[in-house]
Amino acid sequence: MGGEFNGNKARKLEYFLKADLRGIKRVVSYGSSQSNAMYSISLFAKIKELEFYYVVSSLNSNLADNPIGNFKFALENGMQIFIDKDREQKARELASEEDSLLINEGVWQKEAEMGFISQAKEIESLANKHSKTFDIFLPSGTGTSAAFLAKHTKFDVFTCPCVGDAKYLKSEILALDPNSKVQILNPPKKYHYGDLKFELYEIWQEILKETGIEFDLIYDPVGLLTLFANLDRFKNEILYIHQGGILGNISQKIRYERKIKMREMR
Ligand SMILES: *Cc1c(COP(=O)(O)O)cnc(C)c1O
Repeated sequence: MGGEFNGNKARKLEYFLKADLRGIKRVVSYGSSQSNAMYSISLFAKIKELEFYYVVSSLNSNLADNPIGNFKFALENGMQIFIDKDREQKARELASEEDSLLINEGVWQKEAEMGFISQAKEIESLANKHSKTFDIFLPSGTGTSAAFLAKHTKFDVFTCPCVGDAKYLKSEILALDPNSKVQILNPPKKYHYGDLKFELYEIWQEILKETGIEFDLIYDPVGLLTLFANLDRFKNEILYIHQGGILGNISQKIRYERKIKMREMR
């Protein structure tokens, strides 16, 4: 299946994985062509023996001819791809029948909450076992993970935007939990989703070398730089949450290597 069902996307899909889906024949979603959510939903659909329709706004011809990374493995799991400039609208159309389950881009929705109740409990028992108090940090896309983890843990939760700015992230979080106490930190500078920047690749490589842990190449470099730039905000031991996404590194690494070869970076 090209990887496992893990990371925060598995947490987000826990509710659907356990739900009674009798009468449902297909899952419909939308988003970017290399998204970790897309891959995880493809695996979920395969496990549940459902069709999977996925709508992208555009599809680069390179990727269409030579699928790699999340896109390749999602296709292998049976994903059927649709291309439409208004991907959300098209997905809503495709999901209009009763036998379809629509999942929002990045699984930004209330059903994602259940998985983070479990995660909060796991963190609490880890803290109890070692008599620790944590400040939790995790980088955000939609903010779903940060919002629901913060809702169910007694510890302070910090995050940063990796897609869009802090204001946008805050509105996405408040839509899921109007009383959210998540603390949003600003990255040292503004990054766009999937940006290829020298300092992002550098911190990712450094951490890999020092710890042997492979982090995601899209969210985590922004998260790590933000964390290091804001150390004065933390009062307790920092618990950094690894949220999976390693399969997505295949394509992002190729993009970086191509750019380094062309000496275009910096
Ligand atoms: C999806 C993803 C995120 C962002 O999660 P949100 O709940 O959308 O904020 C962060 N890191 C990794 C590795 C991801 O795959």
